[in-house]
Amino acid sequence: MSSERSKKPHLVCIPLPAQGHINPMLKLAKLLHFRGFHITFVHTEFNYQRLLKSRGLDYCKGLDDFRLENIPDGLPPENNRGVLDLPALCASMPKNSVEPFRNLILKLNGSLEVPSVSCILSDGVMGFTLRVAEELGLPELVLFTPSACGFLGYMHYEELAERGYVPLKDESWLTDGYLDTQVDWIPAMEGIRLKDLPTFIRTTNPNDIMFNYNVVQISIAFQAKGVILNTFNDLEQEVLDAIKSKFPQLYTIGPISMLCRQLPDTEMKLFESNLWEEDMSCLEWLEKRDPQSVLYVNFGSLAIMSSSQLSEFAWGLANCKYSFLWVVRADLVSGSAEIFSEEFMEEIKGRGLLTGWCPQEEVIKHRSIGGFLTHCGWNSSLESMSEGVPMICWPFFAEQQTNCFYICNKWGTGMEINNDAKREEVEVMVKELMEGERGEDMRNKTMEFKKKAIDATNPGGSSHTNFERLIEDLLYLGV
Ligand code: UDP
Repeated sequence: MSSERSKKPHLVCIPLPAQGHINPMLKLAKLLHFRGFHITFVHTEFNYQRLLKSRGLDYCKGLDDFRLENIPDGLPPENNRGVLDLPALCASMPKNSVEPFRNLILKLNGSLEVPSVSCILSDGVMGFTLRVAEELGLPELVLFTPSACGFLGYMHYEELAERGYVPLKDESWLTDGYLDTQVDWIPAMEGIRLKDLPTFIRTTNPNDIMFNYNVVQISIAFQAKGVILNTFNDLEQEVLDAIKSKFPQLYTIGPISMLCRQLPDTEMKLFESNLWEEDMSCLEWLEKRDPQSVLYVNFGSLAIMSSSQLSEFAWGLANCKYSFLWVVRADLVSGSAEIFSEEFMEEIKGRGLLTGWCPQEEVIKHRSIGGFLTHCGWNSSLESMSEGVPMICWPFFAEQQTNCFYICNKWGTGMEINNDAKREEVEVMVKELMEGERGEDMRNKTMEFKKKAIDATNPGGSSHTNFERLIEDLLYLGV
């Protein structure tokens, strides 16, 4: 170790501790590290321990200029965080993580082993970090991991409350058609209904944690030096224009996964942060299938379904006779021990593969995948469109409903399935997706977006250019 303190610009990157937030932040950190920044990447203590346990002690061994740190999330030990308890987390971190985060920055600044911190790069929904940045006189940029359309939805939460749409007057409004109300005054969201907006508006409680949390996060983001979004201009131009009128310092650098193709393998492998163990053998299984013959099914890291929903999907998949790869997280189904019947397992023998967690990006990329039954998490949606794979959309919560609306109504890259779809509907839709005319049309549209995503992330493309601008601005801020 040299006795002189490195002069590299030092970024402290801190994602919300959920898989769909960690992944894009970590990729962005790697891209910036590769371009000469010193990186400190901050997990929560809980996730850090979880990763250490599954990956061994070597996991935390970083490089001189790329290191891991962790801070507590403040949740009590009895909160087992099996499936992330978002309301509890969002209530806890702004109260309990401020001081540890401040202490971490002070520790880094007091250490001769690392350069002094030049900028905080925080998840847009970890607004408490901005308080620390402000207090310590550090600039901060925020990465919002949802789609631009989801972000625009959150940006209008306050106005929705002011105009009296929320909170809902009573629970019956959830089911009596009220959510079908069109909201015609949000720019770039023509045709949107209340039920397509991020789901935290579906509350009767004026003090609802998640609704208010999102209002606060947006208001805090105005203090940041810039907002980074994982999307590309050709996909969401109109929405981006609407956002830009409020957040002029906007960097659209997506799909971040595609920008990462310029990184060497060694960089990509650094600090792999899958919170579940990946089953790599499903790639071998895919190798043995015909091109575009397999339906990929995955509802992400947070969705939970009832056993009857699971059963309808299962039999729909079994009855349609296609091959499928289905990721069934151990905690996907609420409160049931025996998930699949013997009869079902017998029925799908040889053509259905069930696994607990897979290397999704590699799976989606595989030539044998012909369609994706997804919950429309933004990473999954973008990963699918980046590979020309059309979707059946089963949005679960948050801005997944908004993504679904854009996928089905604006981009034409997928079709929505009922939340309580019966097996017959599942069967019909899967057939349509894999071999029907609509499926073909969606596949063609998705291929067009794939080409546009490649163009955007190639030198001279919008995301590539914005990423270069981001680097210049970060260097300037760090001086
Ligand atoms: N993912 C994965 N393997 C799986 C399931 C998910 O690698 O079996 C990754 C996926 O590629 C994506 C992230 O986890 O990058 C999930 O993020 P997304 O926004 O799609 O959904 P969320 O989990 O936040 O609901």
